[in-house]
Parts: sequence; structure tokens; C-alpha cells
Amino acid sequence: MVATARRMNTSGLNQGTSGNLSQRVEGGFLLTPSGMNYETMTPEDLVLMRFDGTHDGHRKPSSEWQLHRDVLAARPEVGAVVHAHSMFSTTLACLRRGIPAFHYMISAAGGTDVRCAEYATFGTPELARHMMVALEGRKACLLANHGLVALGADLPAAYKLAVEVETLAAMYWRALQVGEPVLLDDAEMARVFEQFRGYGQ
Ligand code: 13P
Ligand code: ZN
Repeated sequence: MVATARRMNTSGLNQGTSGNLSQRVEGGFLLTPSGMNYETMTPEDLVLMRFDGTHDGHRKPSSEWQLHRDVLAARPEVGAVVHAHSMFSTTLACLRRGIPAFHYMISAAGGTDVRCAEYATFGTPELARHMMVALEGRKACLLANHGLVALGADLPAAYKLAVEVETLAAMYWRALQVGEPVLLDDAEMARVFEQFRGYGQ
């Protein structure tokens, strides 16, 4: 988790002490501490959270603990959550725009689009609630005027999806500079999902 948190910043996916990570463990989940420099953070700084909101460890948990708790509690297939303030996802989120099916790789997020959740103040249960609505049937969403959330079976999968969504956001943003991107319809997206069943090694 510490290595992933550092990579999140060195790769440009995130900056400063923004963003946070969680990973499911026996009896709850491990969560990054609030407002700590990822470079100097150590594994001992991670907070062991339980689903009732109580926690162990000597650090204060991420202000977004409810966001992580709600998704890990409701979605048993999810083992890890990545939240970042990445440049292009956040740019679209500030326009309160999601990412439509302008590219077939949108399917990586589990459906035909990446929704933008309704706005709520960071670190509130309302934000977690709005995120849960936007994540219905999806593995990623944008948070209005805030950033991005990506889910995975484990931390590498959640991180990979965060990078994928950020890449799609950057491509969509660029396409919007020139004109209105042509969208793939639902029938084509159904073919994309079918094609992916036989994709890769
Ligand atoms: P924390 O440092 O408390 O995790 O907050 C960062 C953030 O992204 C809040 O939305
Ligand atoms: Zn945030």
C-alpha cells in the first residue's frame, strides 16, 4: 500500500497529500492516514479500520474513511479502493461531466460510461452516498469538483483501473477540444464486452 501510494504521486496520478487507498483485510480494511506525505509514510502509519468506523493504529485515518468503508461493506467482490485527484478526471468532474462511450476501453470500468457523482463536501457521509449511486454497476466513478474513485479485486487492479480511467479522461478531454466525439452505441458496447471475453493470454 505504501509503495502504491508513492507511485500514485510519482506517476502523476495524484499530487501532494490528496487521494487515499484502502485494502480489505480480515475484520475490516487497511487505510492510508489523513494528510501524510506519501514519501515519508511507513506501513506503521496505515490505519486498521473496522466497518463500524472504529480503528487501531497511532494515526488518524483518511478523512474519506466512510467512502472506503461504504464501498467495501456493500461490494464483497471489491478488495481495494483507490481515490486520487488526477488531472483530467478531476477536470471533467469540475465540469460535472462523466465519461461516455467515446472509446471502447470505457468497458474497463464495468459498463458503458463512467458517471460523475453528485457533489458533496470531502470527507462526509453524503459524498460516500453520492459515490455509491454513481458506482452502481460500475468499478469507477468521478466525484464532482473533486476527483476519481476506482475499485478492484486487489490493489494492483484498482490502481490499474485508476490509470485507465485517467487516460480515458485525458483522451476525452482532448477530443472535446476539437469537436464532439462520436459515441459507441449500446449494441457496439455489447460486442466489445463479448470480444473482451476472449481477449489476452
Ligand atoms: P486524506 O489525506 O484525509 O486522505 O484526504 C485526501 C483527500 O483526497 C480527501 O478527499
Ligand atoms: Zn479527495
